[in-house]
Amino acid sequence: MRSNSKPLLESFSDLELKPILAQAIARAGYEAPRPIQAQAISPALEGRDILGLAQTGTGKTAAFAIPSIESLLRKRGKSPRVLVIAPTRELVSQIDDEFKKLTRGARLKSMTIYGGVSEKPQIEKLRKHPDIICACPGRLLDLMQQGHVDLSFIRKLVLDEADHMFDMGFLPDIRRILKELPEDRQNLLFAATMPKEIRKLAQQILRDPFVAEIDHSAPAKTIEHALYPVPEKRKIELLRKLLKESSFASAIVFTRTKRRARQLAEKLGKDGHKAVALQGNMSQNQRDRAMTGFRKGQFNILVATDIAARGIDVESVSHVINLDIPNTAEAYTHRIGRTGRSEREGKAMTFVSSADIDMVMEIEKIIGKKIETIRTPGFEAPDFERPKPGHRKPQSRRPQPRKEGSRNSTGRRKKPRSSSESSSPSRRRRNTSSRTKNNAEGSSSPSQRRRSNSGRNSSSQKRSSRSRHSAS
Ligand code: AMP
Repeated sequence: MRSNSKPLLESFSDLELKPILAQAIARAGYEAPRPIQAQAISPALEGRDILGLAQTGTGKTAAFAIPSIESLLRKRGKSPRVLVIAPTRELVSQIDDEFKKLTRGARLKSMTIYGGVSEKPQIEKLRKHPDIICACPGRLLDLMQQGHVDLSFIRKLVLDEADHMFDMGFLPDIRRILKELPEDRQNLLFAATMPKEIRKLAQQILRDPFVAEIDHSAPAKTIEHALYPVPEKRKIELLRKLLKESSFASAIVFTRTKRRARQLAEKLGKDGHKAVALQGNMSQNQRDRAMTGFRKGQFNILVATDIAARGIDVESVSHVINLDIPNTAEAYTHRIGRTGRSEREGKAMTFVSSADIDMVMEIEKIIGKKIETIRTPGFEAPDFERPKPGHRKPQSRRPQPRKEGSRNSTGRRKKPRSSSESSSPSRRRRNTSSRTKNNAEGSSSPSQRRRSNSGRNSSSQKRSSRSRHSAS
């Protein structure tokens, strides 16, 4: 894929946008384009496919929303014309909020589609021909199969957090959706990291893309990182002490399991903190309440699991505390991307024990510096020592990415362990035997599998010929 050297956009006014959009941008308080916007908006307005390498918090939503809205305003036509696919309900809602903010005053409608809530209101909104659909892949596919969504007028497809969608096992669903889209469309693919499978997907769907890349793997420079060695059993005690002593505005505490997130939020609540959990076992309403409360400052501690918190955009998170170190270095950058947003300062505190040394070293590689170790008197973990120079690195704990569509021993597709996008009741009924509790979107229904195997859709044949225009 080629990178492009074009003069960077310095001001939104250079774009000569429709006045209604220019006003909405000003009303949103966006004075100057963010780096990802400075790179991506102009080529997107010219109709180029875009490969955006940027994580949430960089302003990437507006980087695809602004050109999408401008093109809807320039040329009216049958709807829906813009389809944005993103991995989680929270992210889909955030994207929809951004579209709503930037279409204020314009007669354009956007809507969300995701699982875990009733299909009915979504079906009703679809009947009113929204201009923009922001969707999670599973529910979208469900509604498409029931004949409620007609995607034949889509002119712009955005795949947001494509790497996360791969992690969650959504690529097969996405490929099915792609088959139903018109060939003649613009594609914008955003990812924070570029695993092999996403590179392959990008090569298949993007035609001569403009590559907009910001320092995607390194977290914001305004973040201070620190390691806190502590024995496993004393982590919560240390957390209580640090919360008491530090002057934090609002904090996200990450735990490895949903149960731990729920229990810890309860404990902190009993300590007198305004704490709330955000984890995959909660209903959509509970999750919405938690997020809204945290955003509005009604809660100032959010105890979350990775899957629930990824992509969440909350201004002014001052501290991210990793009670449990994440499983991958990429997950670390995503977690701490919740702080230091919009060029503010933030603190990333990670509790570690000797078992975490390899992961610490992988994280340091990604952030490009050694993280300071802070030993708290009374909480010593003397076995947390970095290896001496020349020490051979033991095998990494990093899990291997699941192969797309890989099958388990029963021949069924492997399911993502959990997801923040729940499946619909109808979908669950159809897939009862192949789904685990809490499983979300990765598995296909028998009818989906039949359809994907039949090869009856001629657009898929066209698509494969198109894939020859691979992003070089
Ligand atoms: P995102 O990466 O899309 O989640 O955006 C992160 C935050 O940056 C959101 O709260 C946006 O509203 C905000 N934002 C996006 N573009 C700009 C801009 N040009 N100036 C100021 N804030 C922005």
